[in-house]
Amino acid sequence: MTNRRNLLKTAVLTASAAAFSSTASAMPTKAPKKFDEEFDVVIVGAGGAGLSAAAHMPKGVKTLLIEKNSIIAGSSLVCDGKFSAANTPDQKKEGIKDSDEQFVNDLLKVGQGQNNPDVVRALVKALKAEYDWLTAHGIKSKYVGIASGMSVPRAHNFEPPKVLELYQKTAESNGVEIRFDTAAQRLIWDSDKERICGVKVKTQKGELNIKAKLGVILTTGGFARNSELCAKYNPAIKGVQAISGAGTTGDGILMAQAYGADFLNPDVIKATYGFTPNPKTIKDKSQVYYVGAILVNKDGKRFVNESLSYKLLGDAALKQPESKSFQLFDHDMMVKSMETDAREKRFWGMVDKEGKTPYGYVGKTLADVAKQAGIDAKALEATVKEYNELAPKGMDPLGRKSLGSGFGKPIPLKTGPFILMPTTAVLLSTYCGLKTDPETRVIDVFNQKIPGLYAAGEVMGGVHGAAYMTGTGFGKALAFGHVAAEAVVKDKGR
Ligand SMILES: Cc1cc2nc3c(=O)[nH]c(=O)nc-3n(C[C@H](O)[C@H](O)[C@H](O)COP(=O)(O)OP(=O)(O)OC[C@H]3O[C@@H](n4cnc5c(N)ncnc54)[C@H](O)[C@@H]3O)c2cc1C
Repeated sequence: MTNRRNLLKTAVLTASAAAFSSTASAMPTKAPKKFDEEFDVVIVGAGGAGLSAAAHMPKGVKTLLIEKNSIIAGSSLVCDGKFSAANTPDQKKEGIKDSDEQFVNDLLKVGQGQNNPDVVRALVKALKAEYDWLTAHGIKSKYVGIASGMSVPRAHNFEPPKVLELYQKTAESNGVEIRFDTAAQRLIWDSDKERICGVKVKTQKGELNIKAKLGVILTTGGFARNSELCAKYNPAIKGVQAISGAGTTGDGILMAQAYGADFLNPDVIKATYGFTPNPKTIKDKSQVYYVGAILVNKDGKRFVNESLSYKLLGDAALKQPESKSFQLFDHDMMVKSMETDAREKRFWGMVDKEGKTPYGYVGKTLADVAKQAGIDAKALEATVKEYNELAPKGMDPLGRKSLGSGFGKPIPLKTGPFILMPTTAVLLSTYCGLKTDPETRVIDVFNQKIPGLYAAGEVMGGVHGAAYMTGTGFGKALAFGHVAAEAVVKDKGR
């Protein structure tokens, strides 16, 4: 019978035979006679997951955390800091009733049955444990909000730099060595013990083979910055801009796939809608559509139910002619957006005073904004007339019944000035990735564990399923980093 171990044995043999050809690079890397250095655990990638794994590693476990960049360069540092957790003191203070069960059910609903229920349950438990650990160590959530996919508000808002600094300091004081400018290139296979036993790394001084006696934890993040890999899994996002951390190039996924690791949920790679053209950071996002704006394409036509998740809006927007689309809203909606989210002031705060903004076309009438944006005025006016007549009565032909996630009723666009904001979709995360068990052990295509190999954070698949709930990316990294540290120690190199 073919199984992964046999496959690897064959592959190792083939690898040695093929060692002279340039096609051997996806083959298992054999352990050298002598390693350059030896640790108990090697963690690959100093983002949220890697730093959490390092911080939770018990004292006395000789651990190395390597980072390929000269600084922490993952998405964890640049993210919005939303961290989903249920049944927390912050929620109770606000009178929000939530439970682990409700959170699990929401995640399975959002994932449309394509996520692994055991991994989802493990995530929910680990998120609460990590929330408790963080708050016990002085990290405070600024507020608890509701966001995409949630039945109740559970997105806690942390400041990522503070969180990462806490993990880094804790890891260092526990004796973990953190090394920058050290890129993992391949995982190393011990063909006698039939397990992953180390990492081949590239440093500024050359290549090193580093032994990991208990195992290797991959915390390399996603692959939004690897356009080839993105296009391979979802051709629809070919060429879409990414604003994820600079190090998110999918290295961990490729290194694990060389050992037969399974890959889950490629369909979930979707771009997030609401960004200015050529955005640089998360601050370049405006979501007036969730307080009433409609979305139109360059022909002045609506193309989607605007109350859907911002990922589905991204899908629909990218399919429009020249991938061009706009948010269109009136003065009342503009004011409401700034009342709902103070960050919107950056975009629209100057409109009343100056009658303009660098982020969109401002005009007294629909015809005026249409002209400025190069859209047919009559088509735009007809679109708005139909929307104003039907959507508030619950008869929208595109099915919009709420402002967003079931909240609020569609409102007509009436009071000028009107604003047309050129809006685009960008990649933040890739959400899909390596199959693991609930304790982060990597699983191969034959459904067997790959001994000695663990994966935590965005590099994991199976967590989100078909779609993504806000606050479960950053949260997943921090929570499963902790779980991975416990698992590798518990397994004792078996
Ligand atoms: C703009 C933005 C906003 C977001 N907002 C939120 C939010 O509010 N809430 C939420 O839940 N999620 C959010 N996300 C998603 C979330 O940030 C990520 O899913 C999560 O932080 C990933 O953490 P990680 O530790 O797995 O990976 P990362 O933080 O990306 O870290 C991976 C690290 O591994 C390093 N690395 C990669 N390859 C190698 C290698 N070969 N050798 C050594 N090191 C390597 C990288 O350089 C990097 O430092 C957001 C993402 C972005 C981009």
